[in-house]
Amino acid sequence: MAETIYDVAIIGAGPAGYTAAIRGAEYGLKVALIEKQNRLGGTCLLVGCVPTKAMLFNAEIWDHLKHATEYGIDGIGTPALNWAAVMRRKNDIVARHVKGLEFLMRKHKIATIRGTARLTGTARDGMHTLELATEGEGEANGASSVQAKNIILATGSEAKMLPGLEADSRILTNIEILSMDQPPKSLIVIGAGAVGVEFGSMFRSFGAEVTILEFLPRLVPLEDEEVSKELARVFRKRGIDANTGARVDKVEKTDAGVRVSFTDANGKSQVKEAEKVLVAVGRSPRTANVGIEQTKIELDRGFVKVDETMQTAEPGIYAIGDIVAGFPQLAHSGSMSGMVAVAKIAGRPFRPVRRERIPACTFCEPQIGSVGLTEAQAREKGFELKVGKFPFGGNSKASIVDSHDGFVKIVSDAKLGEILGVHIIGPQATELISEAVVAMDLEATVEELMFTVHAHPTLAEAMLDAYGAVEGMAING
Ligand code: NAD
Repeated sequence: MAETIYDVAIIGAGPAGYTAAIRGAEYGLKVALIEKQNRLGGTCLLVGCVPTKAMLFNAEIWDHLKHATEYGIDGIGTPALNWAAVMRRKNDIVARHVKGLEFLMRKHKIATIRGTARLTGTARDGMHTLELATEGEGEANGASSVQAKNIILATGSEAKMLPGLEADSRILTNIEILSMDQPPKSLIVIGAGAVGVEFGSMFRSFGAEVTILEFLPRLVPLEDEEVSKELARVFRKRGIDANTGARVDKVEKTDAGVRVSFTDANGKSQVKEAEKVLVAVGRSPRTANVGIEQTKIELDRGFVKVDETMQTAEPGIYAIGDIVAGFPQLAHSGSMSGMVAVAKIAGRPFRPVRRERIPACTFCEPQIGSVGLTEAQAREKGFELKVGKFPFGGNSKASIVDSHDGFVKIVSDAKLGEILGVHIIGPQATELISEAVVAMDLEATVEELMFTVHAHPTLAEAMLDAYGAVEGMAING
């Protein structure tokens, strides 16, 4: 029997890869999705976004229960955390969505191949050949290669470790921290990007002593400076010991846990001990051992360079998701880049992903949602700015949900009223940011948005007040 020739073979079944597979099939392409792990979903579903946010929901409920009597709910007594149940719920959510993906693959007649694929070079007669090392059963059925007219690399990324350290039951990455037998009573978090502040926030809610050590001068350093400041204020209030400008000198294991020596922002040596340490210092692209050197694909510090269609310098080979140079390592940026790549392959219309229109959502407490330029970036680019800021303290729904920390900040171009960036910290910030993304994508002006009806009483009204604040005309503050 002749070997199947796919229109597109996708390597990696994370959100970038599986989204590209489904959309490709929807376009009528014959698609193969190759994955070396025994479950579909990639980092996001298996050891990233989904399990983390599931546990952050437990943390949120737990935080609410601490105020139960204030909310008129008596009889809760002293709530106790049933860690096994927290783990079970998280695992069930992941398992359910893995099953969902398997169903979607069958529904769309996508060939899912379990194995490790490698590029073998340039296409011959318009055909790429992938070398395949299969592990176990599956549709590969013993095949040692896959042939496709187009290839999409979606191999993802993995957590960086500090030099000399290896992850284990005390030195954790995003993977180990999601399957601990017990929640730690104390935790040191190295790095205050999304991973660091989300887990720091979560385990503080669960009652741990949390210390954060961030090398740069502020928490969430990619966010607007005022957002970092507000997060630091609230974290302090929540009893999180957040150290910025901190250089980690040594991480050692002790009898009881770990000891971290660091130099603080004043140049003073300090030592902290805890049960566990989470290393959250960024993620490296998985671009080694994929056979890239056999092709014309260009790399930039390990990340793959692509054009606006997500095509690499090797015709017919595309790259999407965490391995793409110049893109944020976010599931939604990966999935959209996948949709662009298959649209290009299928000859369908598409809009290139615009870097400055990709929202960032961090699910710590308080949440952060942002899109576009920070105030400092916009000034650096030479824009004359009008900035509006509205605190959740003036929003009635924020009172109703008992969550007054934070604000909505709008950075706009003074001349044209164009929105350049929106920065939200506070209740439901990760949901509210969608309005800003759509507004910016449709190039709405501040004036148009000031006259866009927002329902009452909603947190979204804080957006309306923030647009008003750009002109010094917020209603509620
Ligand atoms: P990151 O790059 O976002 O943050 C790492 C932080 O560690 C930086 O602030 C950096 O300055 C700091 N750092 C680096 N080396 C250090 C050292 N030796 N000592 C102290 N601090 C140090 O990386 P991350 O938080 O690990 O996340 C990885 C990727 O995954 C990011 O792209 C992130 O956006 C993404 N992610 C997103 C979400 C989300 O959207 N909610 C959640 C988790 C991860």
